[in-house]
Amino acid sequence: MNKQALTTITITSELQVSHTPDVVVIGGGATGIAAAIAAARNGANTLLIEQRGYLGGMGTAALVPAFCPYTDGEKPIIRGIGLDLLEKMKQAAGDKFLNSYKDLLDWVPIDVETLKRVYDKEVLDSGAQLLFHTVADQVLLDGDRISGIVISNKSGRSVVQAKLYIDASGDADLAALAGVPFQTGGEQGELQPGTMCYLVSGVDKARFEQFIEQSGQGKSLEKTVVEAQLNGDLPEGRKRISGMAWITDSVVGFNFGHIFGIDGTKAEDLTRAAIEGRVLIDVQIQFLRKYVPGFENIHLVHSGDQIGIRETRRIAGDYTLVVDDFISMRTFEDDIARNAYFIDIHLANANSTMVIKHLPKGQSHGVPYRCMLPQGKSNLIVAGRSVSSDRPVQGSLRVMPNCFAMGQAAGTAAAMASVTGGGFREVSIPELQRKLVEQGAWLGERPGHADAVAVGASGKVEFDDEA
Ligand SMILES: Cc1cc2nc3c(=O)[nH]c(=O)nc-3n(C[C@H](O)[C@H](O)[C@H](O)COP(=O)(O)OP(=O)(O)OC[C@H]3O[C@@H](n4cnc5c(N)ncnc54)[C@H](O)[C@@H]3O)c2cc1C
Repeated sequence: MNKQALTTITITSELQVSHTPDVVVIGGGATGIAAAIAAARNGANTLLIEQRGYLGGMGTAALVPAFCPYTDGEKPIIRGIGLDLLEKMKQAAGDKFLNSYKDLLDWVPIDVETLKRVYDKEVLDSGAQLLFHTVADQVLLDGDRISGIVISNKSGRSVVQAKLYIDASGDADLAALAGVPFQTGGEQGELQPGTMCYLVSGVDKARFEQFIEQSGQGKSLEKTVVEAQLNGDLPEGRKRISGMAWITDSVVGFNFGHIFGIDGTKAEDLTRAAIEGRVLIDVQIQFLRKYVPGFENIHLVHSGDQIGIRETRRIAGDYTLVVDDFISMRTFEDDIARNAYFIDIHLANANSTMVIKHLPKGQSHGVPYRCMLPQGKSNLIVAGRSVSSDRPVQGSLRVMPNCFAMGQAAGTAAAMASVTGGGFREVSIPELQRKLVEQGAWLGERPGHADAVAVGASGKVEFDDEA
């Protein structure tokens, strides 16, 4: 047993039980938001716990500037709650934003403050309860069940006793505390680097576009990076400015540059990364002002509340989705989502290379329910970037649209299990799939499924970026 997993008796004799929902969701990122909405809409009394004072996870806290593709290049394959949230953000962000991105489903920029409000409203409207500024830091075990979790916040420490537990912490915190086996990073423990994202104002978009037009699309930007690296004005590493998102004509979000050797489950590493990340941003701001037309007068408005973390733990689940499943576009009996995002593994150090592997347009593979079921635990499900997969597949599954889809499935399954009183393995898969499809998700053209009719609108893919 993990040394932090205490027995029920020890804990409850010292701590009060503060909440007794049917379903508790830990983590309010893309995964947890969709999970909480799905669980509540399907009738479960649901509590969503988030350590920050707002929802969105990496998409808001780390200022990740855009949503990865919702489409497979031809049609939307991430639908349901995730697609609805994207459209709600566009609607709420004002006419200018809506007009710019109305028909776009791939790489839609994130208007952070609007998105935070949309997430609050949608979660609360679903009937789920929110508890911010609260960390889940211990797990109580009763055989293969979690019998409670300990939370810490300004009110003190207390116990949440739920029937079902959804780990949407991004780092599989609950699973790790409960003793579920996991892997971190590659064979040598190498991890994708983190990125401190940021927002700048004062950009002259017309001037920038003129520069791009005259000097030949992305090539000109690549040249500025290489030139600056040769001149010592930028460090070695990422060779292009990817992840540039136009929030308005004068405000741009950046996902540019890497901080290496960071383990996002270690406070010391996160601290170093935050400090180094801010130093790197300053270097990049000087670079942008000096080398990139249209950016001469930019002002740094905001950097992430934390470094953006691409990978930490991957749990050992009932099934591990592997690169061969991705390449052969495998479909599983228990699919709860489809994925078409490319394998996008960022370089682990400044001298290594990025790994990129695309599926053909219009193609996707299935994401089986079993990937979310941690070995040895009956009433815990893990969704989001730490599900059971090999490292290449994690490099693809990890993006926000996929997290919404997995979260919706986890929340729906939790609501179903809360009615029957069983664990996650007792959930009827055909019934879960039927509910998901009924509630807007897309599981591919499956025989016997009513969703076989293609949905018309297809987002236009403007360019391929990296996440
Ligand atoms: C630099 C960078 C760029 C990226 N670019 C893109 C992109 O362009 N588009 C895209 O779609 N995806 C992108 N991604 C990937 C994507 O942002 C993340 O993988 C995704 O947000 C993961 O979602 P999640 O909900 O599983 O986890 P997270 O977003 O990490 O959310 C987890 C939440 O849980 C909370 N939490 C964690 N532990 C606890 C605890 N113990 N108690 C309480 N709360 C807790 C955290 O505060 C957080 O809010 C990028 C990632 C990075 C790092």
